[in-house]
Amino acid sequence: MDLRITHLYPDLMSIYGDRGNVRTLERRAAWRDIAVEVRSCTVGQTLEPDWADLYFFGGGQDQGQDLVGQDLAGANGGALRLAITGGAAVLAVCGGYQLLGHHYVPGTGPAIPGLGVLDVTTRVEKERFVGNLLAERDGETLVGFENHSGLTYLGASAAPLARVTRGRGNNGKDRTEGAVQGAVIGTYCHGSVLPKNPWLADLLLAWALARRHGAVELTRLDDREESAAHDAAIRAARSRR
Ligand code: GLN
Repeated sequence: MDLRITHLYPDLMSIYGDRGNVRTLERRAAWRDIAVEVRSCTVGQTLEPDWADLYFFGGGQDQGQDLVGQDLAGANGGALRLAITGGAAVLAVCGGYQLLGHHYVPGTGPAIPGLGVLDVTTRVEKERFVGNLLAERDGETLVGFENHSGLTYLGASAAPLARVTRGRGNNGKDRTEGAVQGAVIGTYCHGSVLPKNPWLADLLLAWALARRHGAVELTRLDDREESAAHDAAIRAARSRR
């Protein structure tokens, strides 16, 4: 069994340690003797829609989002949409998450059209959300660090990734964090999010492997260190306002 990962716009969209998510996916597959190949694709390169099982799309500054938004408005956006229709899984963080929605309205300048593969819209409002984030999903805790001024609102076709218990999440109003639609996940959790949320990493691995290998049962890993980091991050989040 093998896994193919494409890291999208790593030169423009990988702030707050987001590239660590690719490393986590790669290692958690390799620890299970799954052969992994990682490629990247950025502005000026051509995205092959049939290759990757899993795409990672990190966060970035507004100017990076501008360039990436323009690229997604062209052939690479069509290729990514085709890949998703073909069953590829996606993890998008913050700016990447925002660009998978219908549009992102920055604080200044025109709206940036998104890919529309997540039924969400984002607009910058006056307050920037910065801090630790805790949220719950089906008995699992999601822990991360958020830093965004774009507030995201879910439409009917997108479900929340998790329910906020500490921090702000999508918009600081409806207690939702992130979005899930098919095998596409968006989240505001930077940090990297996956090393200290192994349950989410394995969910994405299972979805991605199913694309070419059918349903797979992932062997359990010794996650004592990951769990210790997860619990420490929860304690830190709960100890602050
Ligand atoms: N520029 C966007 C915002 O502030 C995304 C920032 C990020 O990716 N951290 O909402």
